[in-house]
Amino acid sequence: MATSLTTSPAEAAAHLRRGELVAFPTETVYGLGADALQPDAVRRIFEAKGRPADNPLIVHVCRREQIKQVAARVPPAGQQLLNEFVPGPLTLILPKHDHLPSVVTAGLETVGVRIPRLSQTQSFLEACGTPVPAPSANQSGRPSPTSWEAVEDDLGGRIDCILRGGRTDAGVESTVVDCTTDPVAVLRPGAIPVESLRQVLGTVQGASPEGEAAPRSPGTRHRHYAPSARVRLVDTPSEVAPGEDHAYVGLDAPAQACALGRVHVEEDVQAYAHDLFHIFRTCDEKEIEVIYAQTVSAEGMGRALNDRLRRAAAR
Ligand code: AMP
Ligand code: MG
Repeated sequence: MATSLTTSPAEAAAHLRRGELVAFPTETVYGLGADALQPDAVRRIFEAKGRPADNPLIVHVCRREQIKQVAARVPPAGQQLLNEFVPGPLTLILPKHDHLPSVVTAGLETVGVRIPRLSQTQSFLEACGTPVPAPSANQSGRPSPTSWEAVEDDLGGRIDCILRGGRTDAGVESTVVDCTTDPVAVLRPGAIPVESLRQVLGTVQGASPEGEAAPRSPGTRHRHYAPSARVRLVDTPSEVAPGEDHAYVGLDAPAQACALGRVHVEEDVQAYAHDLFHIFRTCDEKEIEVIYAQTVSAEGMGRALNDRLRRAAAR
């Protein structure tokens, strides 16, 4: 299959309405979308990515009124979060609407809903005129794509269209919050810090403990975000072993930078998150064997960054 490239949201949306798969930019990472109301098209998302069938998709809409097409109701805490953070990189888990095909939610009775903030995404969703379930547009397990080129590398020839946009802003995915419980619970840390949610709601449960038998966010069970290179976490760059095929990424500069194949010193946590998946992919292109990645302090965006680093390092 030839994958067509376009910068026109209307053209990309026309593909989607025909039951085809379209990758599109958002403020977090690129997504791979289909029409929520065409179950065969939604099934092809799982095939194209090699995504486990038990991992539910986040449904993207462009207007608040559309939420009632996919969710049965919005509990009060969810409404408060909607008022404060939406549109934006926040996914609300809500009770599912009966009419939404169950393939979208992997059979769950709840649905993840997000309204992206990026204007190109909004134009695309507006032109689609239908809810758009979309996971990240990468081969399952690989780092999420933060550029259209990364989408093409992973899925070119397997999807119908890529809506071309710029590098994504946040670089990490949305924060997933379960609004069906009281208090609400963060299922996946992401671009909106849990501290910001607490400022609005008071109590917010943290992410579920590692190794929990049945995590409420099934996707967090699967291997994720991993480059081909091995990722080793370090507290400080002094732990990095020299080597031509070794790379380092972190906030502190390593003393022995010249003895490494690649070095990426990031200005702050925001920049680190923005660049991480891109760096992982560049290291793979340069055939780096080991990426030493410095963990950061677990606050604000640092929580999401550490989460992605830990998952990339787990194998
Ligand atoms: P991605 O695969 O990058 O799109 O990430 C989507 C994340 O949202 C995964 O971790 C999913 O498990 C999670 N998710 C989506 N829908 C639901 C849902 N209904 N309940 C719990 N988690 C969900
Ligand atoms: Mg993903």
